[in-house]
Amino acid sequence: MTSVPVAAGVFTWPSAQPRLIGSRCSMCGIVTFPTQDSCPRCASTEMPQHLLPRRGRLWAWTTQDFPPPSPPYAGPTGEAFVPFGIGYVQLGDEVKVEARLTEADPHALEQGMEMELVLVPFRTRGDQDGDGDDDGTEVMTFAFRPVDTA
Ligand SMILES: [Zn+2]
Repeated sequence: MTSVPVAAGVFTWPSAQPRLIGSRCSMCGIVTFPTQDSCPRCASTEMPQHLLPRRGRLWAWTTQDFPPPSPPYAGPTGEAFVPFGIGYVQLGDEVKVEARLTEADPHALEQGMEMELVLVPFRTRGDQDGDGDDDGTEVMTFAFRPVDTA
């Protein structure tokens, strides 16, 4: 099956060890995700790409029990919708990232637990949206999963 990233420039692709693509200010060192053209702290426009750490610590989370507003949401709706976890993950001491979580049960998650970046299927082209691109391509997005410490 063919698969494509949900958007270009968000994570490394293709990659067995995916990394999120942020930017880092050359002047003050602040890291942003997603990439920005100018620094939110010092307004510098020297913001080269910066690959973020693959692992981080869970900071806050909730469960998305219903389809988010569309747009920007472009995933399954109606009966095809499956609740998913969403949370903030602190990556190193660099940046907090809001992302989908592979675990939808809030009771299975713990403050500060170690999380790892993975790529997950988001939708399959040609299912519900009626835009004609029904070639079965799998659209991939990023998520964090709890690191198995067992
Ligand atoms: Zn700066």
